[in-house]
Amino acid sequence: MLGRYAELKAQLPPGTILFYQVGTFFETFEEDAKTVSRELSLRLTSREAAGEGRVPLAGVPGHALQEHVAALLRKGHSVAIAEQRQHPTKPRQFTREITQILTPGTVIEDNVLSAGRSNYLATFVVRDGRAGIAVAEASTGEFSGTVVPEAELPAELERWSPREVVVPERTAVEELPRLEARVSTAPRWTFEPSAGEQALRQHFGVASLRGYGLDGSPQLVAAAGALIRYLSTLRGGSPPEQIVSFRRYDPGQAMLLDAATRRNLGLEELISTTDRTRTPMGQRTLRRWLERPLLEASRINQRLEAVDALFPDYMLREGVREHLGSIPDIERIATRIVRLSASPGDLLALRGALEALGPLREALGPAAERSELLRRALAAMEEPPGVRELIAAAISEEEGEIIRPGYSEELDEARSFRDGAHEWLTRFEAEERLKTGLKTLKVGYRDGEGYFIEVAGKEAHRVPPHYEHRKALKHNARYVTVELKEHESRMLTAREEVERLERRILGEIRAAVKEAAPQLQRIARAVAVVDVVASFAAAAAELRYCRPEVTEERGIRISSGRHPVVEHATETPFVPNDARLAGDARLQIITGPNMAGKSVYLRQVALIVLLAQTGSYVPADEARIGVVDRIFTRVGAEDRLASGESTFMVEMTEAAGILNGATERSLVILDEVGRGTSTYDGMSLAWAIAEYLHDDVQALTLFATHYHELTRLADSLPGCRNLKAVVEEVGGEIVFLHRIEPGAESSSYGVHVARLAGLPPRVTDRAQEILSRLEAEGVKGFAG
Ligand code: ADP
Repeated sequence: MLGRYAELKAQLPPGTILFYQVGTFFETFEEDAKTVSRELSLRLTSREAAGEGRVPLAGVPGHALQEHVAALLRKGHSVAIAEQRQHPTKPRQFTREITQILTPGTVIEDNVLSAGRSNYLATFVVRDGRAGIAVAEASTGEFSGTVVPEAELPAELERWSPREVVVPERTAVEELPRLEARVSTAPRWTFEPSAGEQALRQHFGVASLRGYGLDGSPQLVAAAGALIRYLSTLRGGSPPEQIVSFRRYDPGQAMLLDAATRRNLGLEELISTTDRTRTPMGQRTLRRWLERPLLEASRINQRLEAVDALFPDYMLREGVREHLGSIPDIERIATRIVRLSASPGDLLALRGALEALGPLREALGPAAERSELLRRALAAMEEPPGVRELIAAAISEEEGEIIRPGYSEELDEARSFRDGAHEWLTRFEAEERLKTGLKTLKVGYRDGEGYFIEVAGKEAHRVPPHYEHRKALKHNARYVTVELKEHESRMLTAREEVERLERRILGEIRAAVKEAAPQLQRIARAVAVVDVVASFAAAAAELRYCRPEVTEERGIRISSGRHPVVEHATETPFVPNDARLAGDARLQIITGPNMAGKSVYLRQVALIVLLAQTGSYVPADEARIGVVDRIFTRVGAEDRLASGESTFMVEMTEAAGILNGATERSLVILDEVGRGTSTYDGMSLAWAIAEYLHDDVQALTLFATHYHELTRLADSLPGCRNLKAVVEEVGGEIVFLHRIEPGAESSSYGVHVARLAGLPPRVTDRAQEILSRLEAEGVKGFAG
């Protein structure tokens, strides 16, 4: 038996866990068993295998398989299932075939996916210094890609946060960009442009790929084709039908936020604080928008205009949001419809969604008159004719019944025959009791045993001779008769007939609804846009945000800006701060003691810009934002000890990335650069980096530092300004005002902070003494 297991295992991509059906159990062996038992806390046992000694084994019962597979997928594993089938020619034997391959980046089942997140599968092909990137979302049918210079591949891939990346077999680890994704493999030849072209043409049924913006980009054709082929291989060769087109996106249309910047700015916290969406597709789209702020003022303003159309009118806004709340995940349901795997529950949910569409459109009407974006969304929400009526007529809401009575005459007949059989049974029981005079006689049914006549033991000696004995229990005996057996087979047939008809009719309905799938996807996307816009409007109203003025000019001006997350987390009231960055004030050196509010200020400026370019209102009284092409961050000494790199090396690598990548349209946020090395080294580097940013790159830069020397840059560099985080000294104690003002902070207050932190007075007093002496000797500031 393990021979067949090994055969199947060899057909699978490496690292795929194989569940092998043995009776009612699904077993895993060897390494798989170890992984499964570790990941799922299952008992690891072993069994004897011919010639191989004992092999490790871990199994799950069939009824629990789905749940365990879902858990493995969520943990990033790929899983294959080999089901037991009757041998085609030897009916007494079983064979096993792989019936499903599931991978983290290709699942469409709701129990594995998280509603608010897209689940991307990605691949890339590098040739002649350029990288083609293709991504697919199997659960929504999204399929797109782009071409970037090879150097930008890691950042561009990271932008998608893929769950799974497919690469050619035997790709060396060094060739892989660093990603938190499952790495799967596919045959090397499938990544050739010619193979890609063939796969895509076949999938889309077209002679030329020109319509998809793919011609002239062999890297992209190769990547997109490899992805399509991979998806269909997983399904035993049948194409991923939910993918109906390919969109080539322009990486220049959206701001690149790499994973480090997303983390540094706290994008997750931003999302959880501001998200007011009501639908799963809205939630996914909100995230997508925030991860890809726009770069064109006109497109941003279109979104802001849409928010503005919903923002001021409470009744209008909440009306729209209430209707959104009753719309389920149509986007993913549409995918299951295309794959003909929609459950009756999915269809009922779809019907509910379509019912909610009318009221939603009506509620949205007045707002759509004021916004082009909402007008387009409204137009896309055209209900596909007949779908709702079909589902309402056909799909039953009753437990244990798929198709409604009255929908199909054939089915109704089969049902009444089946139910008539019940009556037959009652009659049969009464008649037998009468004929035999057995008072305890009953007719019963058990799975696996079938129908029987049961008689109490004390009456057993009186059963008629044509009763065939089946089973003796403690108090009863069970019998069958020819008549009862005949009935049983009729009954079985009737039940099977009902099930067969229900399945057939469900299939017909699925096929009919499938026709409407592209329209459903369009509706889903429109609903998502409305949901995000309504979420921005609701957050703006609740959190007191203002509409930013977004322009193509360079420069940022914010009055009374707040940090969108920290403002809800501070014990004392949050102190708003202004910001002005422009050509003549492009480099701003911020000094002040620890805990004075420098980092919060830096991030707040970046987050306001990010929100504005996403099309959201911003936490400020007023904001004027000249679009930036990218936000670069280098903040704090992130704990990279685990990866074995020195903090300083990481810091310098990131600084190099910024100095090489930033332009005069970029916003650069630097916090404490040069910390990881000696004071002189660190300060010199910080100084030189600041100069370079001012003179050569000319980016808009906020630079928080504890090197007070850097404040002297303002004397010589025309575009450099000093800011300080103000503290007050009251009776030997310092009070953080969290106010950012022009000027340089001369004292670092390090000793004060240490005192606050509870260091023994002997230590802080001694430190004060040393500090005074060092300052007197002229190395002031280096002690900060
Ligand atoms: P620094 O970077 O100067 O060491 P932080 O920016 O980390 O200081 O701020 C320290 C703490 O001060 C924050 O955790 C927050 O609680 C509080 N804080 C910062 N800015 C403000 C503000 N504008 N208003 C109120 N509290 C603030």
